[in-house]
Amino acid sequence: MDYRQKISPMVKINHLYSLNEDDIWEMLDFSKAIILDGHFELLCKKHSELFFRFAAISQYPSYVAKISKELVEWVKQEKFLPSIDVVLGPTSHGMFFAYDIARELNGAAKNGVTRAVYATIDKETGCPQNELAKGFEIKPNENVLIVNDMTTTGNGLQTLIKLVGNAGGKVAGIGLFANRGINEELVKKLQKEYTSKFHSIIDLDMPAWGATDCKLCGINSPIVKSGEINHLPIYNDERSYHLYIKKLKKVA
Ligand SMILES: [Zn+2]
Repeated sequence: MDYRQKISPMVKINHLYSLNEDDIWEMLDFSKAIILDGHFELLCKKHSELFFRFAAISQYPSYVAKISKELVEWVKQEKFLPSIDVVLGPTSHGMFFAYDIARELNGAAKNGVTRAVYATIDKETGCPQNELAKGFEIKPNENVLIVNDMTTTGNGLQTLIKLVGNAGGKVAGIGLFANRGINEELVKKLQKEYTSKFHSIIDLDMPAWGATDCKLCGINSPIVKSGEINHLPIYNDERSYHLYIKKLKKVA
């Protein structure tokens, strides 16, 4: 079975506005962003044999540009979205989208200018923090589009929503590349609250479980923590997990 056949049951492609399904499959297939047959501790502390590493995609700006364009078309074609004053993303992968999308939406805002602003992230976990990068601001009553590469637990999105609220801004929409939190209560709550203003290009059905129920822990399979991955090389290889383990052992 080739890689694309292996990942196809996990990936649900939602309504597309400018890309076609082949673009998405090609992106995932070429980048090998979904790591199979591993043993990972996710940020939520759950364990999984699967990991989605967006850096495998974002190292290719042409893919980032395609994803941004797709989210821009979503904003433009879903006319319920108010004109966007600000696009907010964390200073990780979300930053590329905030920059790209704000540039594309420029002119659609009430005052004719769309800004990109960035939230700081926790250096270890990569999670957004309730603080804007120095010098950036969201003004009262501004319409803010929140963007990010993915959500797993919804916690990062909730932090960004709070950040907008604290500044007196209004969340105009939430646009993501991937939603890995389809079974997470907080993500489901946000989807219900924002309905069609919450959009992910793909949904990922990648099961995760508590550490105490983990069969992989039971057989002492070496584990890679999601925080560690940020410090490891990006592999576009089906054997990524084994390469990470090799690298981690070398470092230790
Ligand atoms: Zn485990």
